Amino acid sequence: MPEALTTTNHSRDIAGLKYVYPVISRRAGGLSIGVNFNPNNACNWRCIYCQVPNLKRGNAPEMDFALLADELRVFLNDVLHGDFFDRFNVASEQRVIKDIAISGNGEPTSLKDFDKAVRLIGEMATEAGIFPASRFVLISNGSLVHQASVQAGLKELARYGGEIWFKLDSATEAGRKSINNTGQGRQKLLTHLKIAAGLCPIKLQTCVFHCGRDIWSDQEKKAYLNLLERLSNEGIGIRRVLLYSIARQSLQPEAESLENADLEELNALAADIKALGYDVGVSV
Ligand code: SF4
Repeated sequence: MPEALTTTNHSRDIAGLKYVYPVISRRAGGLSIGVNFNPNNACNWRCIYCQVPNLKRGNAPEMDFALLADELRVFLNDVLHGDFFDRFNVASEQRVIKDIAISGNGEPTSLKDFDKAVRLIGEMATEAGIFPASRFVLISNGSLVHQASVQAGLKELARYGGEIWFKLDSATEAGRKSINNTGQGRQKLLTHLKIAAGLCPIKLQTCVFHCGRDIWSDQEKKAYLNLLERLSNEGIGIRRVLLYSIARQSLQPEAESLENADLEELNALAADIKALGYDVGVSV
């Protein structure tokens, strides 16, 4: 018998497919259909809370488009017309497709033909009647939005009513170095946010936790709020800010030193963000 799909079972192998995997998502409140562009576990960042197994630096491998189309066709048909929910013992209140999320074991926008892949998913989900009722989400660190194929992909995402969940874990260069192991400078971050927001609705996703004295210190929070204020002053439209804590065990060497933010801390930060005029969501 297949494993039950629960909010804690996030195995990407559960459906036995290369690119497509189901998740009952506590954040989404139902079935999230994930599409993994990075079956090689490669990312251009190395976040210290990352839960990708055997994470390595690199890009998404060449996409097998015929296989992606085949997996989507079979999987969507199974969910919509087959006994998928029964086979995986999904609770009745969660038998709804909340979204299709491009969420890889790495950075999905590093796929060479990123725009083509987004279009394929958009077309197939629309034909199956899933869009526009369900959301189309791209979960990304936003570091490659200066590339032409990524920008073309964001336009496709917007065309299908989608949105980008743009990772922003720190407003300082030192914070991004410590948390994400990236050397992304301030100007580059601002430029990338501006480009992304100009092409597609954007939500910021921010993981709040502690590790040592500096990560999410009071100073870091201040810098984060200053950045949000600046984005607002510059007219860079952010649809929502999503604050969350570490949901699953990090598979990085720093795992033991990470300490989750509690609900009180997340709510206090959310209140400060709200005071700046932003819509904000909290998930623990
Ligand atoms: S950007 Fe995502 S996949 Fe890449 S290292 Fe960070 S958490 Fe992992």
